[in-house]
Amino acid sequence: MALRFFNTYSREIEEFQPRDPTARPTRMYTCGPTVYSRAHIGNFRAYIFEDLLQRHLELRGYKVHRVMNITDVEDKTIRGAREAGVPLQKFTEQFKDAFFEDAQMLRIKRADEYPAATDQRYIDRMIEMISVLISKGLAYQADDKSVYFRLNKFPDYGKLAHFDLTQLQSTGRVKHDEYDKEHIGDFALWKAWDEADGDVKWDSPWGLGRPGWHIECSAMSMALLGDQIDIHCGGVDNIFPHHEAEIAQSEGVTGKKFVRYWLHCAHLLVDGQKMAKSLGNFYTVPDVLAKGYTGRELRYALLRVHYRVPLNFTWEGMNEARESLARIDEWLARLRQIAKNGNVQRLTTAFEDALDDDLNISAALGFLFESIRETNRAMDQNKMDAASASDWLDWWKRINTVLDLEAAADVVIPHEVAQLAEERENARREKNWKRSDELRDRISGLGWEVRDTKDGPKLTRSAGSG
Ligand SMILES: [Zn+2]
Repeated sequence: MALRFFNTYSREIEEFQPRDPTARPTRMYTCGPTVYSRAHIGNFRAYIFEDLLQRHLELRGYKVHRVMNITDVEDKTIRGAREAGVPLQKFTEQFKDAFFEDAQMLRIKRADEYPAATDQRYIDRMIEMISVLISKGLAYQADDKSVYFRLNKFPDYGKLAHFDLTQLQSTGRVKHDEYDKEHIGDFALWKAWDEADGDVKWDSPWGLGRPGWHIECSAMSMALLGDQIDIHCGGVDNIFPHHEAEIAQSEGVTGKKFVRYWLHCAHLLVDGQKMAKSLGNFYTVPDVLAKGYTGRELRYALLRVHYRVPLNFTWEGMNEARESLARIDEWLARLRQIAKNGNVQRLTTAFEDALDDDLNISAALGFLFESIRETNRAMDQNKMDAASASDWLDWWKRINTVLDLEAAADVVIPHEVAQLAEERENARREKNWKRSDELRDRISGLGWEVRDTKDGPKLTRSAGSG
């Protein structure tokens, strides 16, 4: 089956055909974090979807060149720095660091580049693009000294969001400071400096100021990936106005189609509700780790639902993630015991075929667990030979380049826990069930769970432990 994705632009499943697959890597641009606070798990759901997409493309033989921008100058970062009383760069740096820490914890593959909007070479590029847009009549400087994109001159505006420009006119919500614009929907390319901006300012042909958020992504993607890119991703929140504006700016400058495939990830809900600080259901990666879960478990929980379906995050779901991973771990341990150097044979491609179909992760994981069930049964009946076990391990290795869910080799079981588990095993051998249960409770009090498997007891961290 050919690789197919749902393209937000056409609202259709389309066969994936990068522009120039033989000569150049697939060019992929992903909108990154705005570094004014620590990213929440909803943001990371989108980044994990992008990670899955990149890894699957690579499994299918595509070379991927991925850029993820860091938005370190816009209204929220400036406000945050002002409130904290520190320079902008110092303020944003802590959240950049936190972002990379969390991404690593979730095993998200690093992008090839992480351009920051405040880098002078990209500021220069933004200024250059705005100048071209003005010379083409697609932008104008208003009385407030800011430069705006002229929507009425770009008839394709709204095609990505399937949005009619006249709807924007009819809303009639015109704020006082928007009287300077020709059209209510005209968005800022360059924002003239005002006192609230403090020392956040750059020189430009239109006076001191700073770039608008949308032009940052257009300039950085063009600088690093060229005029035309293959895939552009983000959360559904980015579709309008951000990605719509990116199309207007980039195509306004080049006159060429900017993006071939637009892919957007649906929302994350917590207990069926929109995540909000005011509802007390707002979680960052460290918040989840503080409850005793691992980055691997959170990765699984955020990965397992198809990206176009809203994902409902619950603690019960985290425990299910833990159980699913324990099943994979036990299965691998059994296979490894049986496997010797057998002939490596390509097993079925059902896993990657499912992902070819617009990243159908539920079907892919369904196939994985069905395989685990079947091979476990074969092992129970001693019907698995070394060569087949080795083939299965080889298959796992291949699909794990996409999933990245294997347990780290360095999961350390504390000495005390290991000793109690050994005592419990002795008690079980002596059929001293009372003592065995007591020991299980003590192990559980230390935050570990003991599971009796065919190959003896297995220790795993229990849910909710610190
Ligand atoms: Zn962007």
